[in-house]
Amino acid sequence: MRSLFAVANRPEVVSLAGGMPNIEDLPRAALGEAAAKLIADHGTQALQYGSGQGEAFIRELTCEIMALEGVNANPDDVVMCAGSTQGLDILTRVFIDPGDVILTEAPTYVGALSTFAAYQAQIVHVEMDGDGISMAALDQALATVRAQGKTAKFLYTIPNFQNPSGITQTMERRRELVEFAEKEHLLILEDNPYGLLTIDGTPKPALRSLESDQIIYLGSFSKIFSPGVRLGWIVAPPAVREKLVLTQEAATLCPSVFSQFLVKTYFDTFDWRSQIVEFNDMYRARRDAMEDGLAKHMPEGMTWTHPAGGFFVWAQLPQGLDSQAMLPRAVTAKVAYVPGPAFYADGFGSRYMRLSYCFPTPERIFEGTRRLGDVIKAELAMRATFGLDALEDGQTSPEQAPLTGKDQHGQGPAPDIL
Ligand code: PMP
Repeated sequence: MRSLFAVANRPEVVSLAGGMPNIEDLPRAALGEAAAKLIADHGTQALQYGSGQGEAFIRELTCEIMALEGVNANPDDVVMCAGSTQGLDILTRVFIDPGDVILTEAPTYVGALSTFAAYQAQIVHVEMDGDGISMAALDQALATVRAQGKTAKFLYTIPNFQNPSGITQTMERRRELVEFAEKEHLLILEDNPYGLLTIDGTPKPALRSLESDQIIYLGSFSKIFSPGVRLGWIVAPPAVREKLVLTQEAATLCPSVFSQFLVKTYFDTFDWRSQIVEFNDMYRARRDAMEDGLAKHMPEGMTWTHPAGGFFVWAQLPQGLDSQAMLPRAVTAKVAYVPGPAFYADGFGSRYMRLSYCFPTPERIFEGTRRLGDVIKAELAMRATFGLDALEDGQTSPEQAPLTGKDQHGQGPAPDIL
């Protein structure tokens, strides 16, 4: 896949694979001037080592941001890290011994699967419905894990515009989930990088806003400002927080002080709330182009989700088609996507694909869906010619996925498709 994606990044290919935020609209020239002034005026601090927990001023800023989603956090509760990716890494390092169980949605974020695999966690997938993680499936999965004499160390969930499915948990489901976690003493890891990227402009209250100590929250500046600053944060209860700070110090001494100063400069100097509204308008136009293109170009039997924010549409191919086998033909036809199995720890998902609409222009996205539609129609025509539909195709739906999975993520994904 890595070598295919090297080809997919060529300009003639419409990449619906990448998960990179579109930061064209950031006020780069003015930010450059502000950065020069920052170095001139505060360089001795900004270019120095800092606190392992992160600087107080940026932890205060994260609380202001989280308040938009109803989270009432104290700056003391926050640990800064190198993107939420490093947050996931240090949390996994603290909680997981080899063989420990982590519950995750099915499908789930490929980067989290890589991190969990690096610490040899056993992933137990829990299916989703249109309202988020299925409570009945979660109940069943936890019971199965416990019946095996194991403890689920935590549930990893992305409640908003989930990567890769685009599904958002309803408020009712959020309440049910938090109630369940309290009752079962199940720790939840809430990963929320997309929460403010709502197409209707109204962010949903975070799970953490339901005031439970069972919830550790992960936030990120990557989608509301810049992924290049590599700055995210964790909100955790005191006992966990101290271990996280020690782990962070062991890993990097401290998160980048310069990035913290730069982010603070941006948030102090520019109208970041209006910038998020602008980002959302820009992503809405791209989401609409994706939906229009899919509606126009996809053959019968193809279905897809309708995200209300974030970057991703999750599509299911007609019966018998395999997204992984089809990828080389798609790239030859100059369109790329991420095949479904990347988002499962156990190799399932071959009938699915993630289509992202965050980066190319709306026109390119529409053209990408046309090329993809042609590839899928050609696959269907080939199957019909050879009578393959009559044969058993061995396709297994995620509902039939076994609860335990083996690591398939040793190498990890290329960063630009995350
Ligand atoms: N979690 C999810 C669900 C993501 O989609 C991403 C980025 N694609 C991340 C975490 C990582 O973000 P960061 O840049 O903060 O490390």
